[in-house]
Amino acid sequence: MSGPKHSCGVVGIIATYNVVPALHKTLMIIQHRGQESAGLSVFSDGRLHTVRDNGLVQFALGPEKVNDIEGSVGIGHVRYSTAGSKSVLNAQPLTVTTSFGTLAIAHNGDITNFLELREKYLAAGTSFLTDSDSELVSKVLSKYMTQYNDPIRAMKSMMTELEGSYALAILINDRLFGVRDPYGIRPLCIGEIEDGHVIVSESAAIDALNGTFIRDVAPGEIIEVMHDHFIPYQGSSQKHKAHCMFEWVYFARPDSVIDEREVYDVRKRIGEILARECPADVDMIMPIPDSGRAHAIGFSIASGVPYEEGFMKNRFAERTFILPDQKERELAVSMKMNPIKSTVEGKRMVIVDDSIVRGTTLKKLISMLRKAGAREVHVRVGSPPVIAPCYYGVDMKSRDQFVANGHTVEEVCDIIGADSLGYISIEGLIEAIDKPEGDLCLACVNGRYPTRIPGEVHRFQSTLRSEF
Ligand code: AMP
Repeated sequence: MSGPKHSCGVVGIIATYNVVPALHKTLMIIQHRGQESAGLSVFSDGRLHTVRDNGLVQFALGPEKVNDIEGSVGIGHVRYSTAGSKSVLNAQPLTVTTSFGTLAIAHNGDITNFLELREKYLAAGTSFLTDSDSELVSKVLSKYMTQYNDPIRAMKSMMTELEGSYALAILINDRLFGVRDPYGIRPLCIGEIEDGHVIVSESAAIDALNGTFIRDVAPGEIIEVMHDHFIPYQGSSQKHKAHCMFEWVYFARPDSVIDEREVYDVRKRIGEILARECPADVDMIMPIPDSGRAHAIGFSIASGVPYEEGFMKNRFAERTFILPDQKERELAVSMKMNPIKSTVEGKRMVIVDDSIVRGTTLKKLISMLRKAGAREVHVRVGSPPVIAPCYYGVDMKSRDQFVANGHTVEEVCDIIGADSLGYISIEGLIEAIDKPEGDLCLACVNGRYPTRIPGEVHRFQSTLRSEF
C-alpha cells in the first residue's frame, strides 16, 4: 500500500470578519492545483466547522454547503490525485479532535517516509481511517500537541519525523499556522488582506483577494498568523533548498511569483533559451494550449518567427493526464484539442509544449496536425526529458511510464511522429529559472533526489549529492 500521490493547493486566512467567502474565492483561484476534491474548515463558537467533497470548488463547496458556516479563521484545500484514489475520505482539510481541542490540516506534498512512519505509529497504537500521508501528518502533530500542549514545539518535533515535501496550513483551535518543509519543495507564501492575513500556495490568490504579497514562507519555517501580524519561527535548521522546477515549468499559474521568480517570466525565458539551443527553420511557432503558451511566446520572440494559435482547446473537456487507459487518453486528447485548419495547412511549424511524460498528447496532436495539412511539425519542449519518478507531489510515478526512459531523443521523435524534437537542456532550464542549481529539485530530470527515498532503488545513487 502507498499513500495517494498528489500535488494540491492550500490556503489559510485569518481576519476580523467571516473568512468563508475569501477561502472559497482563494480555492477557485488555485483550482488548477487540484480538481479532485475541495474543502474548508473554519473555527467559531468553540468548534470546527468543516465542509469537503469530491469535485470542483463550485460543486464541492456550493452555496448550500457553505452559506450557513462562518468564522474569522480557517483553512482550505484543493486536491489533485491519481485516478485510483478518489475516495471522499481523502478530501481535506483533515480534522482531529483531541484532548487539546481540534486540529485541522491542509497538506500539499508527499511524505516520503510515509510507510515507515505509519508502521511505527500503528505499532504504537495509533489508528488510521485513510491511506493518506496527510492523515499521518495530522496524527504526528496531535501526538506532539498532546505531549507538549505547545504548537510551535509540537511542529518542530513533527518536522524531525517527516521527510519529503509538505506545505501546510494548520488550524489548532482558533490559531492559524503555515509550515513549509525544510527544502521548500512546494510553494507557500504570505500576504496581507483587509484586516487580516493569508497564507497560500500561490501569490496569484493574494492579488485576487486585493491583498499585498509579503514574502514566501522560507524553507523549514513555521509561521503563526494573526489578523494584524505574524510571527516566524525556524522549524528546521537544514540548510539546503530544493524548490520544485516543475512548479515554474508546468504546475503553477503564470501570474504567480514563486520564490521570487514570476512563473510567466520563467516560461518565456525557457522559450527563448529553447530557440537558442534548438532552432528550427519554420514558418510559425505554435503553443500547445494552455501550458505551452508562454514558452512559445518566448520562442517566437527570440527566433523572430511569428507566433500563431493553431489549436482550439475545449476548456470544458476532462483532464486527459490521469485517465488510466492509453486508448481513453488518446480519445480524450482529440476531445480537448482541434487544429485550426487555415493556420496550419501547408505550413512548417514548431509546436511548443511544457513537458513530455508518456508522449500520448504530442503523438495524437501531431497526427491531427498532419491530417489538417501541416507540412512539417517540429517539437520543442520546455523541460528536459522526464526520466525519474516524482516522490514530492507531482503525478509522475513510474519509470516505465516515461517515454524518454530507454529511448534516445531520435527514438522519441519517431514515436511521436515529429520531424524533429528538441528539449531544453538542464543547464538551460537552470538559466531560465535563474537560481543556483543547488537550490532546485531537478529529480525528475536528473534522478538526484534531495531527500532519502525509502524503497527507491537508486539507479542514480552514484550521482546523489554527497551530503545526503
Ligand atoms: P503526456 O501525454 O503523458 O506526454 O503528458 C504530457 C502533457 O501533460 C503535457 O502537455 C503537460 O502539459 C501535461 N502534464 C505534465 N505533467 C503533468 C502532471 N503531473 N499532471 C497533469 N498534467 C501533466
